[in-house]
This record gives sequence, C-alpha cells and structure tokens, in this order.
Amino acid sequence: MTTTPHESGPDFSRNNGLLPAIAQDAGSGKVLMMAWMNAEAYQETVRTGRAVYFSRSRNKLWYKGEESGHVQTVEQLLVDCDRDTILMKVRQQGAACHEGYESCFFTEVTESGLNIIEKQLVDPDEVYNK
Ligand SMILES: [Zn+2]
Repeated sequence: MTTTPHESGPDFSRNNGLLPAIAQDAGSGKVLMMAWMNAEAYQETVRTGRAVYFSRSRNKLWYKGEESGHVQTVEQLLVDCDRDTILMKVRQQGAACHEGYESCFFTEVTESGLNIIEKQLVDPDEVYNK
C-alpha cells in the first residue's frame, strides 16, 4: 500500500471549529465514545499520543483521563473523506464512559424501551469523587 501525504489534516473551518471525534477500541473495534475536538485539542492529541477533547460544558481542553486515569492511547488517527470527522483507534485504560461503562453506548433502544446491555466496570463515585 502506498500512502500519499495530504496537504492538511482536519478542516476546523467547518462546524464552528468543533469536529466530532470518535474513539474506537483498537483491539475489538468497539465504538467507545464520541466527543468534540477543536484545533488545539487535535494538536494536543497528535503531540501527546493520547486523546484530548474540547469540553463544551467546561469550555476548555479535556485531557481524557486527567481525573479518572482512564486515558486513551492513540494507535491510529484518521480523518474522513470530508476531513470534518475524526476517528481514533485507541487503547483504553479503564472505562471510556464517565458513568463507568467500557463504552458510552451501553443503552440499547428497543420497541419496548431501553435496555442496559453492559456491565459497569467501575463505580463512577469512586473514580471521580475521591
Ligand atoms: Zn459516556
């Protein structure tokens, strides 16, 4: 396979400078979570080799795992065809979800209601309120 260097990475002129970033487990392929990156978060991700997002609620960079220790080590960083969505293949420490689940997508929607389809890996109270 040949690789052609692209002139630029994600296009942060789109979507008010915030692009969706999806974290996928590099081993299982499971989708772990989706959050937002601005240009600075993206640059920090590239620089540190760990997922760094932009927190819209706190309005600042969010170094994933800074509180919980549940860091995401990036094995591969991809952009989509439009260069406005980021995909990271990661090695996840602990739980990706702040509610203590491996993946944020632990709720299944069915005709008869919602099902929790995963087991909690950690108790969020113990991780965040120490
Ligand atoms: Zn979550």
